[in-house]
Amino acid sequence: DLEEVIRQSTELLEPLAKTAKTHLQVVAPEQPMVVPGDAAQLQQVLHNLIENAIKYGATEAGITVAIHPPAYERSLQQECIRLTVEDQGSGIPERHLVRLTERFYRVDDHRDREMGGTGLGLAIVKHIMNRHRGRLLFDSTEGQGTTVSILLPTVIENLIRQSSIP
Ligand code: ATP
Ligand code: MG
Repeated sequence: DLEEVIRQSTELLEPLAKTAKTHLQVVAPEQPMVVPGDAAQLQQVLHNLIENAIKYGATEAGITVAIHPPAYERSLQQECIRLTVEDQGSGIPERHLVRLTERFYRVDDHRDREMGGTGLGLAIVKHIMNRHRGRLLFDSTEGQGTTVSILLPTVIENLIRQSSIP
């Protein structure tokens, strides 16, 4: 149940959001949105994405985590549920977007080092999304903010439960 997965992540990150002078809001359809998958791993995905939105995109406008109803995704050729984490921070210059999921890749060494962290969060997200046969997408406009989307298939034929990070 994706709303439960999100709730667990937001509860843990609420204090960090408060310190960063922003707030988290969750938007979800009335009915439960359920996908096959590993709840702990999906919680890790949400944690990494929301933590990034707080660390790099905190504003008074807040951070919105949304669950969208199932829809056919042409890129994966199947029905998926889309989750989005949206901030209105300073955004990510386009040339960086393709490299964000590389291990240890950080956009601004100086700023990011001050923030703490290792540059592994999105590499882990990518890995978990691959295991779930899903997708990770970045949409960012400098000065306007960043939306990170994940697409999760509502049916998975070969869920990869066991595997180490390559
Ligand atoms: P870790 O997650 O391991 O603590 P990290 O946050 O630096 O460290 P990633 O989560 O992989 O590593 O993110 C990589 C880089 O992408 C970040 O250092 C930051 O420069 C950039 N980034 C990620 N999310 C956002 C965002 N919402 N807005 C702006 N920049 C972002
Ligand atoms: Mg991170």
